[in-house]
Amino acid sequence: MHLEETTLQLLKDSLQQLDGGFAALPAITENPAPAPDPRLAAVMNEVANKLQDNYPYFHPLYAGQMLKPPHPIARAAYALATWINPNNHALDGGRASSAMEKEAVAQIAAMFGWQQHLGHLCGGGTMANLEALWVAGQLNPGKKIVASDQSHYTHKRISAVLQLPFANVPSDIRGRMDPSALEKMLAAGDVGCVVATAGTTGTGSVDPLPEILRLRERYNFRLHVDAAYGGYFTLASNLAAETRASFDRIGLADSIVIDPHKHGLQPYGCGCVLFRDPLVGAIYKHESPYTYFSSSELHLGEISLECSRPGASAVALWATQRLLPLVRGGEFAGMLEASRDAALQFAQRLASDTRWMLPFAPELDIVVWAPRAKTVAEISALSQRIFAATARQHLHLALVRVPFRFFAAQHNLTGAREDTVLCLRSVLMKPEHRNWLGRIWAILAGVADGALSR
Ligand SMILES: *Cc1c(COP(=O)(O)O)cnc(C)c1O
Repeated sequence: MHLEETTLQLLKDSLQQLDGGFAALPAITENPAPAPDPRLAAVMNEVANKLQDNYPYFHPLYAGQMLKPPHPIARAAYALATWINPNNHALDGGRASSAMEKEAVAQIAAMFGWQQHLGHLCGGGTMANLEALWVAGQLNPGKKIVASDQSHYTHKRISAVLQLPFANVPSDIRGRMDPSALEKMLAAGDVGCVVATAGTTGTGSVDPLPEILRLRERYNFRLHVDAAYGGYFTLASNLAAETRASFDRIGLADSIVIDPHKHGLQPYGCGCVLFRDPLVGAIYKHESPYTYFSSSELHLGEISLECSRPGASAVALWATQRLLPLVRGGEFAGMLEASRDAALQFAQRLASDTRWMLPFAPELDIVVWAPRAKTVAEISALSQRIFAATARQHLHLALVRVPFRFFAAQHNLTGAREDTVLCLRSVLMKPEHRNWLGRIWAILAGVADGALSR
């Protein structure tokens, strides 16, 4: 069996425990436990067969996109909560899970040094960024949102949804926002919010927060940090000094987005938005004719754009952080360090092998590289071929299109600065990747020998 099963026993035992809390209720005699219905098993069999049509995200040889299964504790806690199916919109729909959400979110805020904050969970990084940019637009109406050309495409799209002007700040040859280009834009006086990315989705590059914060002293703007992918790396002890300097300053932002469903070991449907100033809650102010009656305490729906939300997400996150606290030097931090270490070792192998080109050292656990060739067209075609060939040997990589200028330091390359080139990309986000590097490398080397010698 490749898939873990510990969740099932955990779930069975905790279900009994949960049931015990409702022992005082009269038995539901109209609704006796149904006899086993063979149709359910048949449908589930079909479901299992259908789900086989997936890449093996749980396996260390899946080293492609940002995908991995949740921790067993998250899986079990999430499933257990579905027996109650709480709704974290209002305390009427989920008292325990709302309290767990407030606790879990406060622990995330504390990770960035925030003793107080306003924040909540939401569907994912896109929703979380939408709320952060919406608040920015409410506070600086009509002003521009700017984010680097390597930021997630969602910022441009969200700005369009919010009808706020948007512009890209050019990035440097390591995929980080160029502060001098940013300053030129700020000088025009129409920027209301700067989005800094702490770990770009493509290459894991971290925008230079020290320089950006220095600019904030001269030009007044709201700073939003999109740490959807990279946020948890603030717990890792093996970041490069420059990267560390940026992570140490995330707490100086006005708002932060982090995705527990990326590096936080959660099932999908778990993003998080945090605001440094709890008073932004006033912007959300609304009344609901249906809910908010059971208590004068804060209902999470009062500070969230989404209404119904899965209480199960909060339960899973709370349980995970109970088991694996968000502290430096802890077991969870060790997982991030293993991923980062895997990326460093992998990058080192690539850099010392003439078959490959490595544009820059990884800042987190994402490695982007390309087969060595002379032209953009050749590199792109080879990347595509290697991507397909490794997959046939069960090694699943990803492809990414990056600016050709990332390879500016390489010799004997022809191409224009404005070109883009298709590269190979590996998100080494499972700690097991570190131990599997030898196997991963062997498959890659074998494939490269075939593809590059032709
Ligand atoms: C993944 C990601 C997003 C989008 O988040 P979703 O959870 O996919 O909606 C936004 N920004 C960054 C930097 C990301 O990596």
